[in-house]
Amino acid sequence: MAAQLIITNLYIQVVLIIFEYMRIVVDLHIHSCYSRASSEDMKFENIDRIASIKGIDVIGTGDFTHPKWREEMKKLIEENGLYRLEKGKTRFIISGEVCTTFKYKGKTRRIHHLIILPSIEIAEELSNRLSIYGDLKSDGRPNLSMTGAQLVEEVMEFGENCMVIPAHIWTPWFSLFGDKGGVDSIEECYEDQTPHICAIETGLSSDPPMNWRVSALDSYTLVSNSDSHSLLKIGREANIIEVKELSYNEIIKTIMFNKYKVETIEVDPAYGKYHWSGHRKCGISFPPKEAKKLKGICPICGKKMTKGVAERVEELADREEGEGPKDKQNFLRILPLIDLIAVALNKESFSNEVQKKYWEIVNELGNELKVLLEEPEENLKKVCGKELTEL
Ligand SMILES: [Zn+2]
Ligand SMILES: [Zn+2]
Repeated sequence: MAAQLIITNLYIQVVLIIFEYMRIVVDLHIHSCYSRASSEDMKFENIDRIASIKGIDVIGTGDFTHPKWREEMKKLIEENGLYRLEKGKTRFIISGEVCTTFKYKGKTRRIHHLIILPSIEIAEELSNRLSIYGDLKSDGRPNLSMTGAQLVEEVMEFGENCMVIPAHIWTPWFSLFGDKGGVDSIEECYEDQTPHICAIETGLSSDPPMNWRVSALDSYTLVSNSDSHSLLKIGREANIIEVKELSYNEIIKTIMFNKYKVETIEVDPAYGKYHWSGHRKCGISFPPKEAKKLKGICPICGKKMTKGVAERVEELADREEGEGPKDKQNFLRILPLIDLIAVALNKESFSNEVQKKYWEIVNELGNELKVLLEEPEENLKKVCGKELTEL
């Protein structure tokens, strides 16, 4: 009897463990058609459709500061702090990116921050507040004359479940640690508001092992997003978050307090434009050691090269390559399917053949992330062909 009870109990516990959590794919950072250099197709209907093809459960709305985009947002249906189209599957989480410009130690700093909010009403009120610091209508990612600390203070006025995440923290321009207008520590940007920062965005040009080399980042949750300005780039990086329910608060709480339940999906950092130091005009780039030997000067034209993310990490790192904190978040490395196909067919990603093959595969197998992460080899071979599967 007792044994039976124990077994039944065990059974219930196992069932609970299986059903307690679900893994959702979340891309917090994209841009709408109202952002500069963004595709006109970046509208809710299209984003909803592509996100489900890609296998994304929750996606940022992007650009909440833009009044015209907010008008579109107001047509969405709210559910547990997340939003969806009437017939849509994808949940939207309210997000937007702003650029703060301020002087620090005599140098102009331009830093991008991602903001995540629990409701359209707060998005509206916060936008009213932020409009004092810059023109919100001119760009979906507005420029604001304020410090990082001032921004966090304004955002946190609306509650502890609002969130500011420094965006793509290593890119040379417009980022927290960027060589061209960033700073050397989180505190230099967020000052007394630093305790409100819980997460950092790795960006396309860096991956978790690079960030692990800076011990000052150990306590932050690493998140990874696509920062997409066009439909097909949605979800090229994303997060897999284990949650108990599909709600705004659950997602935010997990990012804030439970970093080991956040896994990131990463492309190879060399995929990012700024991974190595180089001079784009002359078409060359170098790994950190060689760039250092060249003293950062382009060997072709003699001008200064842009310091790449790898070299910048090297500067701020206090751990050797391959080292890191004892406990680490999991991450998965993928190459976007469209690029995989391009390599297999030896054609450009935007060519008709590559696009055609992409849709064939996705229509047959469900969604892109499923194809890349879960699909057994046999199925892949059938649909994708042998060459592509081997990649
Ligand atoms: Zn940005
Ligand atoms: Zn962005």
